[in-house]
Amino acid sequence: MAALSIRQAHKSFGPTAAVHDFSLDVGDGEFVTLLGPSGCGKSTLLRLIAGLETLSSGEILLQERAIHDLAPSQRNIAMVFQSYALYPHKTVAENIAFPLLMQAPLPLRIPGLRRLVPGCGALGRHMTEKVASVAHMLQIAHLLARKPAQLSGGQRQRVALARAMVREPQLFLMDEPLSNLDAKLRTSTRAEIVDLHRRLGATFIYVTHDQTEAMTMSDRIVLMHEGQIQQIGTPLELYENPKNLFVAEFIGQPKINLLPLQFADGMQILADQIVRGLPSQIDGMPLPSHNILVGLRPEAFTLCDPGEPGALNGSIHLVEALGNETHVRLMLRTTEIIVRVPAASARGLKAGQPLAIRPNWNSALAFEESGQRV
Ligand code: ATP
Repeated sequence: MAALSIRQAHKSFGPTAAVHDFSLDVGDGEFVTLLGPSGCGKSTLLRLIAGLETLSSGEILLQERAIHDLAPSQRNIAMVFQSYALYPHKTVAENIAFPLLMQAPLPLRIPGLRRLVPGCGALGRHMTEKVASVAHMLQIAHLLARKPAQLSGGQRQRVALARAMVREPQLFLMDEPLSNLDAKLRTSTRAEIVDLHRRLGATFIYVTHDQTEAMTMSDRIVLMHEGQIQQIGTPLELYENPKNLFVAEFIGQPKINLLPLQFADGMQILADQIVRGLPSQIDGMPLPSHNILVGLRPEAFTLCDPGEPGALNGSIHLVEALGNETHVRLMLRTTEIIVRVPAASARGLKAGQPLAIRPNWNSALAFEESGQRV
């Protein structure tokens, strides 16, 4: 049974179709990421699921129950915002307890527990225990009596997560929760969120425009563009088997290289060079007779001798040494490509030098000029 089903969802703001014909089934306990460039409709979709926006048409079902007409508080969904949205005048404990307070009748005061769990001044026993338990899980128990202004960005982010967890929702929605953290903290918090997901066993829907986050955290990625789904798949499926040029270019760093392959007067011309020794098949299809774009990831090349059959000859534009590997920017007449070279083979390579490479045709992808895979 799908934990969440979105069926032909559509949302317009005046003339703008922010989400268009969007259908997705998310499995119980799955971690699904909505990925795409700014303005592609990720946040709108998350807000539709949370009930902060209303659908123009379509359906949203949680555990097979239609929820799109319910108020946000009736959906049993928790959302973590990019800004954390903490109340500045409340303590950390009161912030975490807030979703419980919204549900509950007037809380009881239990003085003993108040002393045991600082910052829980007016909370009842049940709430205090809940707050203490999630705070312990997220390692912020020592911060419960503080106000948000007395916390670091990473600590605020944990408080926002704790507040989402306290009601034990069926579904967690996270809208770019790491974007206000510095690069180092982002990497460690990324791993913590994945770990939290595993420990809770809950369903997560995560929004980001950062492909590294999407690739490292998700069971499946939904790549969106202009309100529409481009492809749904595991991170590796999107990398190795993109449906179209948009997916191929969005996923992967450095970006995939696109080399025009033309056929003229019986010659095969790749990136403006006559090439010999092309395989009879590219991307599992017989070599077409019309012009296509050949997609080759930066690791899909081998350095070779300039005269070797199938060699492409170019001139080094830039050498970027990263330690374990080197990115070589190579000019092939009019096309610049990036080649990932193991550090040991890249020693001595310098800008301005000639360099010959041989594509690894087994991993080549073929695209029509329209952008679809051949
Ligand atoms: P970002 O990564 O920049 O947050 P996003 O992918 O989350 O972008 P959305 O915020 O969902 O994109 O916006 C999708 C489209 O809908 C955009 O063109 C945006 O301008 C438009 N849009 C979003 N909210 C509204 C609104 N309340 N009124 C009018 N247009 C809106």
